[in-house]
Amino acid sequence: MTQTKIQLEENEIPKQWYNVVADMPNPPTPPLGPDGNPIGPEALAPLFPMALIEQEVSGERWIDIPEKVREMYAIWRPTPMFRAHRLEQALGTPAKIYYKYEGVSPAGSHKPNTALPQAYYNAEAGIKRLSSETGAGQWGSALSLVGKWFGLDVVIYMVKVSYDQKPFRRSMMHTWGAEVFSSPTDQTEAGRTILEKDPESLGSLGIAISEAVEVAAANKDTNYSLGSVLNHVLLHQTIIGLEAKKQFEKVGDYPDMIFAPCGGGSNFAGVAFPFFADKAAGKKIQLVAVEPTSCPTLTKGTYAYDFGDAIGLTPLMKMYTLGHDFMPPGIHAGGLRYHGDSALVSQLYHEGLIEAIAVPQIATFEAGVQFAQTEGIIPAPEANHAIRACIDEALRCKESGEPKTLFFNLSGHGHFDMAAYDSFFSGELEDFEYPEEDIQASLRNLPRVG
Ligand SMILES: *Cc1c(COP(=O)(O)O)cnc(C)c1O
Repeated sequence: MTQTKIQLEENEIPKQWYNVVADMPNPPTPPLGPDGNPIGPEALAPLFPMALIEQEVSGERWIDIPEKVREMYAIWRPTPMFRAHRLEQALGTPAKIYYKYEGVSPAGSHKPNTALPQAYYNAEAGIKRLSSETGAGQWGSALSLVGKWFGLDVVIYMVKVSYDQKPFRRSMMHTWGAEVFSSPTDQTEAGRTILEKDPESLGSLGIAISEAVEVAAANKDTNYSLGSVLNHVLLHQTIIGLEAKKQFEKVGDYPDMIFAPCGGGSNFAGVAFPFFADKAAGKKIQLVAVEPTSCPTLTKGTYAYDFGDAIGLTPLMKMYTLGHDFMPPGIHAGGLRYHGDSALVSQLYHEGLIEAIAVPQIATFEAGVQFAQTEGIIPAPEANHAIRACIDEALRCKESGEPKTLFFNLSGHGHFDMAAYDSFFSGELEDFEYPEEDIQASLRNLPRVG
């Protein structure tokens, strides 16, 4: 029998995270302050503990995972990898398809991989409360989960469209003891500014970030915590790819192509960067970030310095952006509705070392349903983007007869997204045209620096 489930032992959980900066051909672009000059670590100190700031600017290839964090990772790690035999058969492809399943964490996605160490370092630094934003609710639930474990209070600004679409994610956060607000709120300067312009605002990740940052900056005992984009977040997520490499070793295989959904870039980086190390050493492998056509940051955005939030409170980061005040359509993959992208992912894409494609919403649900009916797991709408891209490649392999080895990250399950599946089944789901005019309008507001 060919192996279907590829598992690791608890003692095979990696002891270090991998920092891609060590293998990038060029040094990372520095974040800039409001005056257009590079900022130092001290500029981040009101928001983050020093241990995370050090990771943010580190050039070391390997960074030790604290023993306590590694012990707690074992609550759901190592995560399983599967060979998708039944999907391959249904497609009639000569390609081999593997996927890593991050939905086994208590919150149902890869997000706890970074929430856990972030809570750990903040608690070590004497912080009492964490503030953050959430899109679909995945990040908010991950942070709420770990908050209690470390005795931290958690306050979450949840993008309004998701707050209304996904009430059970909100209930999860409440169950784990967090406070949750529908963003934009009237409690922050940032929220009030947005509501004055548009009282009906659906919210966006950019706006929710502005609110969470404002609260952290104004309170000494409160730090801000980000679920994606930043270097230290991507670093923590490399545990996915490091485990996957060991799992491929166990079955004596190696991927030709890796696919992951890409919002802020953290699960893509997490699964792909450890393989980038091999690519940098000369190995042939394609690393493909998959985004929605309605929020096509890498494929249609501009590579420029921009704010990470909607109001302009964060440092400027050089990244692919649709403009910090771009308001993405209300698609169901809420975790992919972000105007920007990680600076590291953006730089590697700019240098042609990784690839990106955009796929439309309805086709992603078709892929998700085919996956659920063959492999069993019902994927998160975000993960459906990677599945779509992987199935399309497997079908190309069928045409060409090439037996490629394909691998994607199943970043989370869709158990709290069944309303989105219902809309798909009832034919209510829409494909949004590429919002060219809105993007052009927003790009005119890019800060003039760099
Ligand atoms: C948040 C999320 C994403 C997108 O965020 P990245 O930082 O790009 O990984 C993808 N899939 C799931 C399940 C998510 O929760």
